[in-house]
Amino acid sequence: MAMEGGCQCGALRYRCHSRGGPLYACHCRECRKQSASVFGLSLILPRKDFELLSGRPQVWTRGTNSGNRLRCAFCPTCGSRVWHEAHAQSETVTIKGGCLDEVPNLAEAIHIWVSRKLDSVAIPEGATCYPEEPPN
Ligand SMILES: [Zn+2]
Ligand SMILES: [Zn+2]
Repeated sequence: MAMEGGCQCGALRYRCHSRGGPLYACHCRECRKQSASVFGLSLILPRKDFELLSGRPQVWTRGTNSGNRLRCAFCPTCGSRVWHEAHAQSETVTIKGGCLDEVPNLAEAIHIWVSRKLDSVAIPEGATCYPEEPPN
């Protein structure tokens, strides 16, 4: 089942040809800064299921805790962060969940970097949680 999403101004639009998964709610400091909110929402999607419909992203690259690089694609007009990828041909892309037209069901999210969670953020009872990165 296809889902679509895009940036705040609508210039960047994409289609997901599968539901992807898992969905992560990440409470790390990088995700807080990136989202300018209290956690980041990341949906893992096979790249073959990802189709850019319109717009041309700009890419900013940063280092990660594990010593790798992360490519962060955003809209040059409105600045929304739309997806992340390890490199331009990586097998998966990480969709920033809030940009999907229909935001994924948060009840299904796996919470990671819970050790960095803000005290005032409540995690649903029974949710899968990891203090840091999930095990591979
Ligand atoms: Zn935009
Ligand atoms: Zn994070």
